[in-house]
Amino acid sequence: MRRRVSIALEIADVHKTFGTLVAVERASFAVEANEFVSIVGPSGCGKSTLLRMVAGLVAPAGGRIRVAGREVTGPIRDVGMVFQAPVLLPWRTTLANILFVADVAGKTTAEHRERALQLMALAGLSGFEHAYPHELSGGMQQRAAICRALLLNPPLILMDEPFGALDVMTRERMGFELQKIWAASRNTVLFVTHSISEAVLLSDTIVVMTPRPGRIQDIVKVDLPRPRDVSVLEHPRFIELSARVRGGIGMGSETGSHAKVVSDPAAFAQ
Ligand code: ADP
Ligand code: MG
Repeated sequence: MRRRVSIALEIADVHKTFGTLVAVERASFAVEANEFVSIVGPSGCGKSTLLRMVAGLVAPAGGRIRVAGREVTGPIRDVGMVFQAPVLLPWRTTLANILFVADVAGKTTAEHRERALQLMALAGLSGFEHAYPHELSGGMQQRAAICRALLLNPPLILMDEPFGALDVMTRERMGFELQKIWAASRNTVLFVTHSISEAVLLSDTIVVMTPRPGRIQDIVKVDLPRPRDVSVLEHPRFIELSARVRGGIGMGSETGSHAKVVSDPAAFAQ
């Protein structure tokens, strides 16, 4: 008997042009419920455009997008979003920032507060409930933004280069932090990055894109066991999968340099 899979997101033959520029060309893929899927590719290959179309913030020129079986025709609700900048409100404490989404929905309850505190503990933010954003480091602010996106336990989380503004060392740690937070609830995640190692570390599936025109080049299943700790970076399968993604992007995999790349923390953000 075939395994029944629940599809959280379906992208079918989606394309988008800006004038004569083809930003996304006929993209198709599906994301299963509870799956962590990354879109990886160099700058300008259409990753953000694709994510915005899923959120209903940009209309596709053609094709169809369905979230939880429903066609996306405008901005979708029930979605958690994390951007490159954490966009916390400076006059609210960290806890109040995380609770903001519940306040906006008009129903902050004791359960929300409880969940916010649990998420903060998972994200290593305990003790900073009453600190203001300017008292947090960049990495802590971004972890708070991730907690906020998870607070209402949305069926879909969209993340657009959430670690892109962080320094290399913080960025590497954030990958492991995110994995830990995600493992506790396993929400469906669509995660955009230009870091190959970040994508392999975090994902169940990687959608590899190339630019001009923005096109899906490969879809790679990551069969590394979870949880993945720092030793996974040295795992032969990790190196093999990274090379395949790198090859799909068109960066070549025949240089033999990938073993060096994954063991060098500075390369993590490349
Ligand atoms: P990525 O996120 O992969 O860096 P984007 O999705 O932001 O790529 O952009 C894909 C291409 O579409 C780029 O060439 C970009 O300049 C172009 N583009 C994105 N948004 C717009 C827009 N609103 N108007 C015109 N061109 C755009
Ligand atoms: Mg982008």
